[in-house]
Amino acid sequence: MPNKTSFKDLDLIPEIQKALTKQKYKTPTPIQAKSIPGLLKGKDLIGIAQTGTGKTAAFVLPILQLMPEKYPRKIKTLVLTPTRELAAQIGESFSTYGEFLKFKHTVIFGGVGQGLQVQAINRGVDIVVATPGRLLDLLNQKKLTLKDIEFFVLDEADRMLDMGFINDIKKIISKLPPKRQSLFFSATMSPKINELAKSLLRNPIHVEVAPQATTVEIIEQHVFFVNTPSKDKLLLELLNHNHLKSVLIFTRTKHRANKVALFLNKNKISSDAIHGNKSQTARTRALKDFKAGKIKVLVATDIAARGIDIDNISHVINFELPNEPESYVHRIGRTARAGAEGTAFSFCAAEERNYLNDIEKLIRQKINVMDHEFHSETAKNAVGAAAKPPPRKSSGRNSRSRFNSGAKPRAKSGSKPSYGSKPNSTSKNKKSFSKKSETGNKFKKKPRRN
Ligand code: AMP
Repeated sequence: MPNKTSFKDLDLIPEIQKALTKQKYKTPTPIQAKSIPGLLKGKDLIGIAQTGTGKTAAFVLPILQLMPEKYPRKIKTLVLTPTRELAAQIGESFSTYGEFLKFKHTVIFGGVGQGLQVQAINRGVDIVVATPGRLLDLLNQKKLTLKDIEFFVLDEADRMLDMGFINDIKKIISKLPPKRQSLFFSATMSPKINELAKSLLRNPIHVEVAPQATTVEIIEQHVFFVNTPSKDKLLLELLNHNHLKSVLIFTRTKHRANKVALFLNKNKISSDAIHGNKSQTARTRALKDFKAGKIKVLVATDIAARGIDIDNISHVINFELPNEPESYVHRIGRTARAGAEGTAFSFCAAEERNYLNDIEKLIRQKINVMDHEFHSETAKNAVGAAAKPPPRKSSGRNSRSRFNSGAKPRAKSGSKPSYGSKPNSTSKNKKSFSKKSETGNKFKKKPRRN
């Protein structure tokens, strides 16, 4: 993501410059270069940008700079975001970029007791980062007020709508004072999103960076046509290659995420799963272990992985393709963070063939087809009813019985710290891919279709 503007050109105060230097950020990303000047002038903003573009700093930095320091502390900034992971990460960004300033923030999300969150508010904070449900809950209980808000950020608006937060968001907005600076971020634009943005913003600057296809283009993408029962074997084969160092695997369901993590642990590949049924503590621990390289693989569902901010994910593997093509873009965006290179592998069974078609339409490119031991022509050529999932009732899919059904997730998770740096190499798994498997060029690329 080369960019000619330097942070020095952005009129940021020394305290913030110092924090950026500490982070070793050299140049602003495009969204930062385009948003920060207008935001520092007090403008509203609509930003079309995905996670991974540096959009968090694009709003956190100007807010930190503009927010007046007043005591006793009042909540002057509210950031609404769809998931707890994202909320926690934005909270961390306020700490990181605001290290040399005196503001205090807290993060509010559901799924945990509210006691500590209420205590933090009572102690006094300048910034609240929240998911809509819990925030509304606390507002209804009069545990906090939004009457002093001067800066409001609605993050990942498209995801918020997908997750059914629209009414909560409208209620929260109705409690904000009219005089405020509002920032609105969304990865995609749609008439509904536009309507929401219009209701919120006044004469906003419009910044659009890395439209989906552009971000997608920097990621190396491959599809493996494979029958469902062979997916686990294919996964093992792939994970036994050295260069797959830190891998985020996506499944469509929580159940499948658990099964994949369990299966991998049984096969001596350290992994853990995160999804909505896991406690916050378990999710935080899994993320921490993954970030620290204690586990090689993190298995996640779409919602749990939303906004995961981990640099150095070497590969994203779509064990199951998402049924919404936009999720594919979000998923693969977890690799290639802030301009780094990344690779995404997708497993496509016959019943997912239509999902792949939809994805290729959205990203306006054909994904390279890989030649591999478990290649399925049936999957590749599936059309009509065979290219869609069977009706829900018959979703037992006992064909995947190699995963122990009903077993608890996270067996032995995190117990093998060496896996992060020492790639696992059970010799029996080395036979099927090309002999060059330990070099960079493991799989044969098929020519691009069309
Ligand atoms: P975001 O899109 O806000 O989730 O940011 C994606 C990643 O880019 C995060 O890991 C940030 O720490 C990193 N990042 C943000 N801004 C910069 C920058 N100007 N230079 C280098 N890395 C950055």
